[in-house]
Amino acid sequence: MKPRAELDDIRPYQPPRMALEIQAERGSKEYVKLTMNELSFGPLPEARAAAMETLARANRYPARDADPLRAVISAANPGITTANVVVGNGSSEVLVDLLQILERPGEVIFPWPSFPFYSSATRVVGLTECRVGLNGRHSADLDTLHAAVGPETRAVILCNPNNPTGTYLSLDRVRAFAASLPDRVLLILDEAYYEFVEDPAYAGSHELVLRSTNVVSTRTFSKVHGLAGLRVGYGIAPQEIADYVWRAHVPFSVSVVAQAAAEASMRQTVSIAGRTRFMTGERERLQAAFAEARLEYVPSHTNFALVRTGPCVFERTGVLVREGEALGYPGWCRISIGRAEENDRIIAALSRESSTPGR
Ligand code: PMP
Repeated sequence: MKPRAELDDIRPYQPPRMALEIQAERGSKEYVKLTMNELSFGPLPEARAAAMETLARANRYPARDADPLRAVISAANPGITTANVVVGNGSSEVLVDLLQILERPGEVIFPWPSFPFYSSATRVVGLTECRVGLNGRHSADLDTLHAAVGPETRAVILCNPNNPTGTYLSLDRVRAFAASLPDRVLLILDEAYYEFVEDPAYAGSHELVLRSTNVVSTRTFSKVHGLAGLRVGYGIAPQEIADYVWRAHVPFSVSVVAQAAAEASMRQTVSIAGRTRFMTGERERLQAAFAEARLEYVPSHTNFALVRTGPCVFERTGVLVREGEALGYPGWCRISIGRAEENDRIIAALSRESSTPGR
């Protein structure tokens, strides 16, 4: 076997401190796991019931085109039809499907630091990456991104809001950026944290998608819906792009159980809005505590926050957070916002820190 040379320096994804994280996931009182921007709550009861009910039919392949799920997604995005919706085994798979349909050789541009998977996915599918540094406000620098576009550019990925910084771009700015790109360049808007942005100037990328031939947004059931373990994500795309995505897509990649749970969860708009409100309230509470402890942080519009201190500060109260080095932010850490009692432990760690003698 002769593997492709570009795979040689790609390492499999490996979250750090796995052993403690597993302990926390199994319900250890000692540790809470706030490392991966998951929701600390389980799926909504309606999603659980739908999953359980479907399990008995797991001997059958799922709906080939995930039609019922695509129908609820399109209903939630006015103007969109099911022909504009693609689904995947997490939005990660939708991202890979999108990269798979691009012409080779070619280059994919994205701001950096951002979601590390952009880098490995780009290289795994045989494209080259071009990283463009964030600006001083920890946000995508649209002028520099635009200047980086050349004849080899096949796509630009904008993580909006950005992981790990939590900053976002308004729809007007995204629209102007999309208009400035040549039609042959695909603009992928990764909106994994879509539901956590409160500013009304942010929402509505589906309208931009509808009016374009080269803009796609991707979203996920892994965050506010609390279904990360079931692996469901989706893309909203112009029909021609969606048609190509289905050609590249692994058949039946979203299980029957995952489709049913996601569909049921998407219908629960009131409960999901309640979760969003809770998370944004907790986010403000944590950020106020960072300010009180005089720690630098990046005001977040997601379910995580980036704060300038080491993970050991939080480990004192048993909170596992993601250290920033691996995310391109050495000296910082990224904390997923959890349940109220988990967030209390974060705040308790900060007050212990400030009361440490000699600090
Ligand atoms: N995009 C971003 C920006 C993310 O942070 C994540 C998950 N951490 C994903 C996509 C992937 O999510 P999924 O579980 O839908 O594959």
